Amino acid sequence: MAANLANWKIDHQCPQCGASVLLDETDRLLACPFCRTRLYLVTPDHFRYHIPAPERQEKDMLYLPYWRLKGSSFAVQANGISPRFIDTSILATNGAGLPRSLGLRPQTMKLKFVSPDMGGRFLEVHLQPRAIIPAMEASDPAEHSFYRAFIGEMISLVYAPAYVENRTLYDALLKRPLSAWQEETITAAEAKPPNWQVRFIPTLCPRCGWDLQGEKDVLVLTCKNCDSAWHCSGTALAEVPFTVLAAATKEAVVHLPFWRMKPHAEGLSLDSYADLIRLANLPRVTNPDFASIPAYFWSPAFKVNPALFLRWSRQMTVFQPQGKACETFAGRSCYPVTLASQEAVESMKITLAEMIVDKRRIYPLLTDMRLSADEIMLVYHPFLVGPRELIHETMHLTLDRMALNYGAYL
Ligand SMILES: [Zn+2]
Ligand SMILES: [Zn+2]
Repeated sequence: MAANLANWKIDHQCPQCGASVLLDETDRLLACPFCRTRLYLVTPDHFRYHIPAPERQEKDMLYLPYWRLKGSSFAVQANGISPRFIDTSILATNGAGLPRSLGLRPQTMKLKFVSPDMGGRFLEVHLQPRAIIPAMEASDPAEHSFYRAFIGEMISLVYAPAYVENRTLYDALLKRPLSAWQEETITAAEAKPPNWQVRFIPTLCPRCGWDLQGEKDVLVLTCKNCDSAWHCSGTALAEVPFTVLAAATKEAVVHLPFWRMKPHAEGLSLDSYADLIRLANLPRVTNPDFASIPAYFWSPAFKVNPALFLRWSRQMTVFQPQGKACETFAGRSCYPVTLASQEAVESMKITLAEMIVDKRRIYPLLTDMRLSADEIMLVYHPFLVGPRELIHETMHLTLDRMALNYGAYL
């Protein structure tokens, strides 16, 4: 597994008072230490940053696009699923002679958001992030992968400054030549679409107007006043259906969030628990009721290493945990949601591949198989708090506290 490198930093002016605020690339909340404004960062697609060009640089800048990717990658291979942690940047365009990666530079420099009023030209993005990963992991060709999935903690675009002189493209930071420049082969846009502007929305509950709660990197904000949960959908807050499973014990309990997805599969019967038992050959006594109980796919709604992500997704999907549900956060300690629901949906085929018995028949079908979520719900599960681990109250599975970003605070 790659070393977990430091997060990249973004320098931004507080939209309220103009003070310079340093954000972490995972931050979704701008909390200004000067004027105390709290704003939520939103974008219709990806956050776009640039590495600032050196000052007093008179040349016309040309910005090269890189995907910033951080998350879990899974390859389905004949002998099983190989999980891998990815923390990298990779060229997002087909330019010959351009550096394939940004290297370590963004860690030593402060990035800035791209805005439509910036000068310079921006090379067009030709490669989509999820399509890039297979090429990047140029592994042993003998190890054929039937299917790959990427569960992104971070998918953003970073632009690096360059300029052209004497038909040569130069790196604007190092002032080093990169490649011969053929203007004709490159598409670069002078005009930047208005949706490139990062937007800030107030962290007020759209329903009741109270302050929404959340750590700075949360993807779901919660309202403790009207018991609602909100995530960013496009550039607005949209309500997230959620439920909190009540703990049976009076002992110290923390609730961890999971995404529960109702599968919609084409060419595969996955509607009921009975279907799931059959597909995965689960050691369960068949009960006629199982044909009418829906089957759900599960995934953690928090960041965790790829091997644990796979284990928890599989175990919960096999177990189909249930419990007494209530729709209130009152008096409960809930761990923050740091993995988006659309990323969880990307994990469904991997969970299926992990469980299914008839691998020889199903693996070759995975790439073209249509498997989506008809319905997604955020479900908080009670975990007993041990000295070093958390224990799922009904499944009795343990999760090392060190495996969680906020593990130390639980
Ligand atoms: Zn401020
Ligand atoms: Zn509210």
